[in-house]
Amino acid sequence: MSHENERDPNCIFCKIIEGKIPSKKLYEDDEFLAFHDIDPWAPIHFLVIPKKHRASMAHLTDGDAAMMGRLMLLIPKLALEAGCEPYPEGGYRIVTNTGKNGGQEVHHLHWHVMGGPRPWLRG
Ligand code: 5GP
Ligand code: ZN
Repeated sequence: MSHENERDPNCIFCKIIEGKIPSKKLYEDDEFLAFHDIDPWAPIHFLVIPKKHRASMAHLTDGDAAMMGRLMLLIPKLALEAGCEPYPEGGYRIVTNTGKNGGQEVHHLHWHVMGGPRPWLRG
């Protein structure tokens, strides 16, 4: 499945998907890409993005429901693969910033997944 027509040429995360900007990838399939955050807050901090460009949670429509479901099931698997210890002693935090007041800086929908021993730098 190709999402080439669902990219924003000015979007930094679309450029990461296309390999125009390098990233440390953790996982990739037809629909999603996971890569390490360039400025981690926690010992484990990676981002999961859909390959379809969606600017934020506020841009999702009913047609994105299945994608969102698959994503929510993928994240716990990736967190363990990335080294997060199992629930309940371990675990991880999942964050999606949305809009200016939500603290969103990159306007390509993404989930922060953070874990590892505390204390963390932030979050
Ligand atoms: P936001 O504030 O939009 O939720 O988070 C954007 C995140 O993307 C930040 O944690 C930031 O460190 C990360 N980020 C921004 N640019 C790049 C980049 O070029 N490569 C990687 N790996 N992470 C980036
Ligand atoms: Zn994008």
